[in-house]
Amino acid sequence: MDIEKILEYQKLDFVLYKANKDFANSEENKRAQMYRKLRNDLAESLIRLDKEAGENFNDIDKAITSYENFVKKLKATNLSAPKTIEQADKNEETINALISELNAIQKDIQKCFARLQEIDTKDAKEVKQKIGKVLSELKNAEIIRNDKRNEIISSISQEGAALNKMQSELAPEDLKIYNKVKSSVNRMPYIVEYRDGNCLGCGIEIKSEVDAKLQKSGDTAECPHCRRIVYKK
Ligand SMILES: [Zn+2]
Repeated sequence: MDIEKILEYQKLDFVLYKANKDFANSEENKRAQMYRKLRNDLAESLIRLDKEAGENFNDIDKAITSYENFVKKLKATNLSAPKTIEQADKNEETINALISELNAIQKDIQKCFARLQEIDTKDAKEVKQKIGKVLSELKNAEIIRNDKRNEIISSISQEGAALNKMQSELAPEDLKIYNKVKSSVNRMPYIVEYRDGNCLGCGIEIKSEVDAKLQKSGDTAECPHCRRIVYKK
């Protein structure tokens, strides 16, 4: 591995890496992310309300079926003129039971309609109003975020161009190793010095594992702890 060249490449890459981090942590980016989350949460609320409305319609269907069954039962009920006090009491009992059954069905239907009306005129309306506000805030936030992004990209344009140029100059094998470490290690640097038996990336002593591979200047090995590439100066 051409250590000098790959370190030069890493230095350029670090500028881009830092710029990426700066952008991710910028107020402009965070603000846009916050509005995106708000928009998604509100959209979910609308879906929930829609689902609830669907359930209410189902309950109304059920109540209508109950009412139809009630009518059938009513037709089949025989309330002949009472001849005794016991019969009169029994008739009254039957009528009371029918009335309370009808009341319960009516109550169910009324409850569903009231909730449907509330969803339509209050809850969904409120959520839609909020969505309207959030969307317009989000639009502004996205424009500001994009400006910030462009500003950062143009501030690193020299390094970006130099990095691209170096990609064709580096030995393909070296670049491949670099990119492999880059994809598996979260934090830069990826290529670090091996000094006094330690990996300078994670700081852990790795002498017993890698010392045999790192005998002369320019030798490389993989740190068994952090998976960075260590090199001997
Ligand atoms: Zn390490």
